[in-house]
Amino acid sequence: MFTTHERPGHFIDNQTTPAQGGGRLTVTNPSNGTECAQIARGTSADIDRAIGSARTAFQERWGGLATLERGRVLQRWSQAVLAHQEELARLEAMETGKPISLARADAVTLARDLECYAGAADTLHERTIPYQAGDTVLTLREPHGVTGHIIPWNGPMQIFGRSVGAALAAGNACVVKPAENGSLSLLRVAALGAEAGLPAGALNIVTGLGAEAGQALTEHPGIDHLSFTGSPETGRRVAIAGAAHHCPVTLRLVGKSPQIVFADADAEAALPALVNAIVLNAGQTCSAGSRLLIERPLYEPLMERLSNAFSALRAGPAHLDLDLGPMVNRKQQQRVWDFLSDAQASSIEMAAQGEIVDEAPADGFYQAPVLLRDVPTSHRLWRQEVFGPVMAVRAFDDEDEAVALANGTDFGRVAGVWTRDGSRQLRMAHRLQAGQVFINHDGAAGGLELPFGSVQHSGDAREIGFEALYDFSRLKTVAIRQG
Ligand code: NAD
Repeated sequence: MFTTHERPGHFIDNQTTPAQGGGRLTVTNPSNGTECAQIARGTSADIDRAIGSARTAFQERWGGLATLERGRVLQRWSQAVLAHQEELARLEAMETGKPISLARADAVTLARDLECYAGAADTLHERTIPYQAGDTVLTLREPHGVTGHIIPWNGPMQIFGRSVGAALAAGNACVVKPAENGSLSLLRVAALGAEAGLPAGALNIVTGLGAEAGQALTEHPGIDHLSFTGSPETGRRVAIAGAAHHCPVTLRLVGKSPQIVFADADAEAALPALVNAIVLNAGQTCSAGSRLLIERPLYEPLMERLSNAFSALRAGPAHLDLDLGPMVNRKQQQRVWDFLSDAQASSIEMAAQGEIVDEAPADGFYQAPVLLRDVPTSHRLWRQEVFGPVMAVRAFDDEDEAVALANGTDFGRVAGVWTRDGSRQLRMAHRLQAGQVFINHDGAAGGLELPFGSVQHSGDAREIGFEALYDFSRLKTVAIRQG
């Protein structure tokens, strides 16, 4: 079992700093339900200090630094993250419960994010615009200034990397509010950034509760841009708080992503990807493939194979590195239980269930993966995000029905299509409402080169890829008339 008894402070101005009010919050290890750390409980006073530090850094040390130099700092930081991969992975596995190999992969993704944006820092070019004779018109990309980043617990290192990495590369100074169960790895990452040459104040982390430190960040008039990843309810609050002081807000919210398998698909190749799409991180990802649509001739044969695969899945503590770890906290575990008791009350058939291994401590927040068949489209299991290892399956009869079912929720994060028919592949890609469409594989949010966006209630941000740099910069037009 991974354990520490850390009592870290905030990270402000490249210093570890206690909360001004002296408050602390207990972090519970989801693998065994015991305390693993006490983080600083940030208040508006801490946020105020962090924003002041970021403003000075932006004006004096980071915003005006040559892009090449910014890139070099990010590059060194990326190397430091790789060198500390094991330490970072253990911290994140301990506080979130994710299997250690997934936490290691997340550290590598963070390093790759920093490396990618290091290279992109000096490529954020703009245009000259032909206008009237004698005029020269050009557009400039400028950093917002001080950016606020609210990061959830499901992928602290990953989401930090793509959000803060892009913001810093674009020349902003950042204030980060991590989730209560996602602070330890990020505090260590920030310290590595300082060692790699990030100037004091370019990156500040204030830990604490969403309703205290998080809300103070969103309401602070000194923030020039807010980026939020999390639930739609909190996202709405953040957007309203930002609007009150005319601060642009980008939202990365939830999904109910469909995987659509046509009868001509290579089911052999699809099977492990379909399972992974819902089991990865115990289903606690906004791109989880939580709805499966199977064309009727393939329905029973594929369900049989999926049932066998689900029955073999094992949940256990992070250090055992099984198919999935526990849910992040008691609240999330209860949320999954509520959905499953609704399924039972509605007589939805459970086709298969994995196991929780004997070594899993009784006080951990475990949930075995569950496969549900013939889920009615009106049921909330079909329409709402569970954020747990629960897959809802339905049959369809033709392409139009598949599209109607796939698009029939309020969300649009990722969609997967499995078919050998080339023209159908393209048609489906055009017809599906999603930020990313994968054909014959599932790579949700994977590959830093692939921009990741959303539609409808899933949010409006474009993250990952070069496009993320646009979120973290603003356009200025300069028109020069020669006298
Ligand atoms: P949440 O949206 O409340 O928390 C996400 C982040 O927002 C955390 O850092 C939290 O401290 C912060 N926060 C909370 N209240 C805030 C406020 N008033 N102002 C500013 N920041 C605030 O999510 P949750 O309660 O941890 O999880 C609930 C559900 O949210 C999950 O079941 C899942 O559906 C969804 N979720 C989605 C993602 C994602 O990656 N899109 C991540 C986590 C949770």
